[in-house]
Amino acid sequence: MKRTGAVIIGGGQAGLAMSRCLCDRSVEHVVLERGRIGERWRSERWDSLRLLTPNWLSRLPGWSYRGTDPDGFMTMPEVIDYLQGYAQSFRAPVEELTNVLSVVPDGDGYRITTDQGAWWSKNLVIATGHCDTPYVPPIARKLANDIIQLVPTRYRSPDHLPEGAVLVVGASASGIQMAEEIHASGRPVTVAVGRHTRLPRRYRGRDILWWLELMGLLDQTPADVYDFEISREQPSLQLVGRPDHGTLDLPMLQRQGVRLTGRLLDLQGHAVRFADDLVGYTAAADAKLAVLLRRIDNFIAKKGLDDEVDEPAPFVPFLWPSPWPEEINLQTEGIRTVVWATGFRRRYPWLKVPVLDDRGEIVHRGGITAAPGLYVIGLQFLRHRKSAFIDGVGRDAAELAEHMCRPSFRRGEEMECLT
Ligand SMILES: Cc1cc2nc3c(=O)[nH]c(=O)nc-3n(C[C@H](O)[C@H](O)[C@H](O)COP(=O)(O)OP(=O)(O)OC[C@H]3O[C@@H](n4cnc5c(N)ncnc54)[C@H](O)[C@@H]3O)c2cc1C
Repeated sequence: MKRTGAVIIGGGQAGLAMSRCLCDRSVEHVVLERGRIGERWRSERWDSLRLLTPNWLSRLPGWSYRGTDPDGFMTMPEVIDYLQGYAQSFRAPVEELTNVLSVVPDGDGYRITTDQGAWWSKNLVIATGHCDTPYVPPIARKLANDIIQLVPTRYRSPDHLPEGAVLVVGASASGIQMAEEIHASGRPVTVAVGRHTRLPRRYRGRDILWWLELMGLLDQTPADVYDFEISREQPSLQLVGRPDHGTLDLPMLQRQGVRLTGRLLDLQGHAVRFADDLVGYTAAADAKLAVLLRRIDNFIAKKGLDDEVDEPAPFVPFLWPSPWPEEINLQTEGIRTVVWATGFRRRYPWLKVPVLDDRGEIVHRGGITAAPGLYVIGLQFLRHRKSAFIDGVGRDAAELAEHMCRPSFRRGEEMECLT
């Protein structure tokens, strides 16, 4: 059994950022990755996807975008190169093609068994990703067998879909992007809309994420928000990264001819029932967006930036289609495919340490668990609002590395002030 100071499971941006922070502190460690560096960006994303965060918003400890288009959006091959280059820049000790099969407590550390042998380490960092396993609601089992079911991690392009119309369930970033692309391929598309966060790509001449960053909203900690649990469960931003910096939202999809409905409520065979809540969800998203835009306007006025930015564009609320269907029959409508863009869950079947709650999520405070030396990183709003973004994980990694390097007898008392 090989021994080291820390084992990091996962070679995405979170595992690499953690590795870089441990290198900076001369902590011997290894990164175990079941695939290749940045594996999710290689094998779990669709062909046309670009990052929805601009290139400049991809900073990692000791690494940042160095290309000629800081305001552009990376394609998947560019993201992979970016992460690969990052790992090479500090010779990250990554063991690729190494699948972790079990983690058990062993003395004052952990035994990590992989398909390439075993490791023992006093510290363990779980960096297996917030977007781990696509969530599919249990009612999916009641769908007729002749309907193809897909999740975003399996979708590649409309060319790989069977002929016919498509139902996309979910209207966050993945759902609306796939809906637009499938519709552009000539297929009729219906989107079942649930809770979502509407955002324009640009506001007053700047990228919307530029404003959120400048105003400090992306750096907010749990202490900065009114209700942390609500903030942590926020749906992903309804944004797309395109060379033309265009907005993609529900009004846009509707103008293109995509049919919108309320949340998918129930189904049986080919019969699908939607909730009568399209108005509620879109009105809530509009209200939230209107408040945000007003906050940006106030910020601009307070900082005296009016001369440097564009005039505010009038806010255009979502105009509800009338009527929208509450029941459809997939067969009658020619719908052959259902895409479940209904979010992600995390699974840790290999983790034999009692740190999971009854939903199977790791219980932690800012990434620090109750099991000594066991950390998690990369989860949504782990320590900051942008913790699950490429740009956000570095600060978390530095803080967790700092915690790991403190004498163990002090770790308990430090936990409170670090969270
Ligand atoms: C469709 C989509 C688009 C996104 N777009 C953006 C964006 O534009 N900008 C942005 O900042 N963020 C974006 N994100 C969010 C986030 O950046 C990604 O989810 C990113 O992949 C998270 O990186 P990570 O390192 O935390 O985890 P992951 O990239 O999920 O890496 C975890 C790694 O752990 C490995 N692993 C898992 N289990 C094991 C095991 N048992 N043994 C060994 N290895 C294991 C996996 O193979 C994987 O490589 C997007 C997410 C999705 C799903």
